[in-house]
Amino acid sequence: MNDYLVLVVEDDKPIRNLITTTLKMNDYRYAAAVKGEEAIMLSASHQPDIIILDLGLPDMDGIEVIERIRSWSEVPIIVVSARSEDSDKIAALDKGADDYLTKPFSVEELLARLRVIQRRLAKKETNGTSEFVNGKLRINYVSGCVYLGSTELHLTPIEYKLLCLLARNAGRVLTHKYIIQNVWGNISDNSEASLRVFMATLRKKLDDRYETNPLIQTHIGIGYRMMKL
Ligand code: CA
Repeated sequence: MNDYLVLVVEDDKPIRNLITTTLKMNDYRYAAAVKGEEAIMLSASHQPDIIILDLGLPDMDGIEVIERIRSWSEVPIIVVSARSEDSDKIAALDKGADDYLTKPFSVEELLARLRVIQRRLAKKETNGTSEFVNGKLRINYVSGCVYLGSTELHLTPIEYKLLCLLARNAGRVLTHKYIIQNVWGNISDNSEASLRVFMATLRKKLDDRYETNPLIQTHIGIGYRMMKL
């Protein structure tokens, strides 16, 4: 039996049933809500481990639900939305959602996203470490040294900051805006272009550009995610 409690917030009954059935078949515990207010109440009373949240709800915007929940909780939130709501997706990630699924999605995809979050939650319980290891990549936060296998990488201060931000949030999609604010502190007209340039050089140093399973995944028009290897 899986110990994770998942709160499903979705007003579309067939989709809600698909998600809850998938959860049940995979031994997750779950609670379901149809409206935003109900979702907020259930997150407070049931303290779910993960929330799956539809953005288009009958009583309020899913983004408002994220904002309200984030005022007291860091619970991972996976946003579910239609392709046409791309800008909403970005707003949701900016407000603190962790990941998103575009409708229609497969149950395998949903389960994969849940596993990513579970790995992150498991990692969090063993925190306090001064070293980050992910596949061949190793970051020593104390010395500020980065290694790929046994080779030390020579990164510029910006590249290092960028890599640490992605590493700290491994498994989570970070929007361009979020990255720029955290690395540079402010946003200018050409911020996204410079981010792309820095990301390209960083990936070149990480030997990550031509891999079939890249360490850093590009979400076109949205942002980047460091994969958990
Ligand atoms: Ca909906």
